[in-house]
Amino acid sequence: MAKLIFRYGAMGSSKTANALMVRYNYYERDKKVVLLKPRCEDRDGAKVIKSRIGLEEPCEFAEDFLENYSGEHYDCIIVDEVQFLAPEIIDRLSDLVDTYGITVICYGLRTDFQSHLFPGAQRLMELADDIEQIRTICWCGKRAHFNARLLNGEMVTEGEQVQLGGNESYISLCRKHYKQRKIEG
Ligand SMILES: [Zn+2]
Repeated sequence: MAKLIFRYGAMGSSKTANALMVRYNYYERDKKVVLLKPRCEDRDGAKVIKSRIGLEEPCEFAEDFLENYSGEHYDCIIVDEVQFLAPEIIDRLSDLVDTYGITVICYGLRTDFQSHLFPGAQRLMELADDIEQIRTICWCGKRAHFNARLLNGEMVTEGEQVQLGGNESYISLCRKHYKQRKIEG
């Protein structure tokens, strides 16, 4: 049975590496699979998905793929950085599952640096058949659910939800250390 699956994890939980490995598993079995990412997500260069551990594969932009899609068979569609897709694009991905019987696996963040759901992630929470967490840990060893934005080594809580091309970085923290704004022990 085709499914819409949302696999979410905080920053540094190897979501992209996971996506690339799942894509390889399909490819290795001669299954038809495609990798997608949001059009806005071009920091790694257009139409490439790169993981921190060095894996990379070509991809297509999700918005363009959906616009041009005309019923071709796929065994699986894998979407990375799915939180940046608009909610209506998530609806269209769910149509691929229901109309064409394609399994769609989405990887991304659940919440932003202010601990609020991304609109795309919220729509997935509403629509997905399966919701799975990819775990990662805070510096203290507890499960990390929160993404802290860092600017000059300090955690910041004000700013735009998405700052593509900005110089800030992110780390994942447990709730307690996110609240305390304590980024190291
Ligand atoms: Zn902690």
